[in-house]
Amino acid sequence: MAKTVIITGAARGIGRACAELFAAHGYQVLINYYRSVEAAKELHHSLQAKGYQVALFQADVRSRPQIDRMVAYCLQEFGAIDLLINNAGIAQTRLFVDLSADEWQEMIDTNLTGVFHCTQSVLRTMLPRHQGKIINIASIWGQVGASCEVHYSAAKAGVIGLTKALAKEVGPSNIQVNCIAPGIIETDMMASFTAKEKTALKEQTPLERFGTAEEVAACALFLASDAADFITGQVIGVNGGFVI
Ligand code: NAP
Repeated sequence: MAKTVIITGAARGIGRACAELFAAHGYQVLINYYRSVEAAKELHHSLQAKGYQVALFQADVRSRPQIDRMVAYCLQEFGAIDLLINNAGIAQTRLFVDLSADEWQEMIDTNLTGVFHCTQSVLRTMLPRHQGKIINIASIWGQVGASCEVHYSAAKAGVIGLTKALAKEVGPSNIQVNCIAPGIIETDMMASFTAKEKTALKEQTPLERFGTAEEVAACALFLASDAADFITGQVIGVNGGFVI
């Protein structure tokens, strides 16, 4: 029977690459989006045109009622949820001393509390089935910290901590929780970086290039597979050697 995955922030970037790859591998895919209405509809159409089982749901990961409605819709459409990929996220570059309390809060609400809402909502359907997988998209900055991205780094470090602790808590229920910590991946998130900053980041990456969204999606596909059933609580780097 086909497995079902919810992917947050799936209209663009890494989430979109995951939606395309998982759909092509026979998963029923719930594409979550928030602001990218046109891109989400276009992705939904293009995957449906290929005969894939996909559904679309607009929800802000910061809103628990919206996430609960998304999970209910996914169950109604596909019957069960086997996998959640917590991918939605925002980035911002700011000196720590210039960060406003609102900017801090928006970062934590989106990148950390969003993971809490989606994971808790989905787990309520996974626990009784004694089966499921959660994949969180963290970041190398959650591992080593980024100057001028203290709030982003703190939220991603929180995602790593959440992953490890939850893996211990739900392991006895046969649910695996892992995270992927991407290095520098060429998506819209990198758009605000100057050519000079990008060159510097490439120079710090042993493989001397940025990763692609497809390379992150390939790691997620492996973690989602039965071959990864004995892997839980881990932080998998897809980073070109940036963090070793
Ligand atoms: P991206 O192209 O900017 O995509 C970000 C995605 O997050 C969009 O699909 C966006 O959806 C969604 N999103 C943002 N706020 C949301 C909200 N409140 N509710 C629901 N969805 C929301 O960036 P990306 O590079 O693919 O990033 C994906 C994940 O990878 C993020 O968690 C990011 O932190 C992480 N990551 C990226 C890199 C990198 O170098 N690119 C490195 C490490 C980790 P809408 O457009 O529909 O609003």
